[in-house]
Amino acid sequence: MAHQGRIYLSSPHMSGSEHEYVQEAFATNWIAPVGPHVDGFERELAAFVGTQGALALSSGTSAIHQALRLVGLERGDRVFVSTLTFIASVNPVLYEGGEPVFIDSEPETWNMSPQALERALVSAKQDGRLPKAVIVVNLYGQSADLDPILELCGAYGVPVIEDAAESLGATYKGRASGTLGAFGVYSFNGNKIITTSGGGMLVSNDLDALEKARFWSTQARDAALHYEHSELGFNYRLSNVLAGIGRGQLKVLEERVAARRAVFERYEQALSRIDGVAFMPEAAYGMSTRWLTAITINPRVIGITPAELVALLASENIEARPVWKPMHLQPLLRAYDYYTDTPQFSVSDQLFAHGVCLPSGSNMSVPEQERVIDLIAQHLLARRLIHESA
Ligand SMILES: *Cc1c(COP(=O)(O)O)cnc(C)c1O
Repeated sequence: MAHQGRIYLSSPHMSGSEHEYVQEAFATNWIAPVGPHVDGFERELAAFVGTQGALALSSGTSAIHQALRLVGLERGDRVFVSTLTFIASVNPVLYEGGEPVFIDSEPETWNMSPQALERALVSAKQDGRLPKAVIVVNLYGQSADLDPILELCGAYGVPVIEDAAESLGATYKGRASGTLGAFGVYSFNGNKIITTSGGGMLVSNDLDALEKARFWSTQARDAALHYEHSELGFNYRLSNVLAGIGRGQLKVLEERVAARRAVFERYEQALSRIDGVAFMPEAAYGMSTRWLTAITINPRVIGITPAELVALLASENIEARPVWKPMHLQPLLRAYDYYTDTPQFSVSDQLFAHGVCLPSGSNMSVPEQERVIDLIAQHLLARRLIHESA
């Protein structure tokens, strides 16, 4: 059979209107980390999610870094972080010499387990080492259950930073995901639901805090002609050219959410009948964007591991990935504490052992998705028969 086109996990999907914004940046020579598109993108994104302000930065990672500086993280301080996430949720803690403590997922949402968080807070309080912040990750387009998390953190006086890099466009009890904590972070990396090729946004209702981060992220230049510096700064601002792409992308965010959800529904219709296959649940408290369709396959029922399924898809030029390898299992992070969902059971280990993310791009065609579905269905059904007769 002829070599078929590659199907990506999640690839950029332009609307067409990005060109006009980029063209305008060129025409007006705003080729800089400041300019009208940066201001416009911040204004439009803040209006979309409903926060007082927004700060456009060069990545989601830099936005988390700035949030951690805003909560006053210092060397040796602890930060609690969801374990089931991408490394970028944790790296900024290490940049500041902080000590991450990992919190397990709950099985219902795959997001931070409130009961694990509670045990971690109780024991931190006993040790007199409460964290400077809790970074809650909203995984694969779905908000964590923030009410119990905010209540716990409120009781201990710990601010919440929402890593909403994967959940822009999702809701939690009618509010935009990423706007419930003290600070929220979005990413516009090439694989996210909307992209500027690279970029991020820090959102908050605390405008003074955002001003402070604005100052730090432009090299902390004091008000003087001669380049005076009294604080440590960073070069973290988003380019005006890329902010133009972001403005074009933001216009189609809701369409992109609808398309990702439709992708999920087609997978679910076709594959949920297969014994041993389960889909990441959607909690009743909100709407997930289904940024990535994540499934679990039970190897005891199906006789295939996530790695084998990913390899099978790769052999047909289809990109799939295992679910994030939890942070507490990473060689870099082995030294840090970890609190499981229940004292005896780690949910994230189980999700990592069984989970696969399927190609989920909003620009994937239905025939392309059928290619993925047919391959999985044929293979899993065949494997099951072999497995059962063995
Ligand atoms: C993508 C991602 C980030 C980092 O965003 P960048 O813009 O790539 O720096 C942070 N956290 C999570 C959970 C992500 O998926």
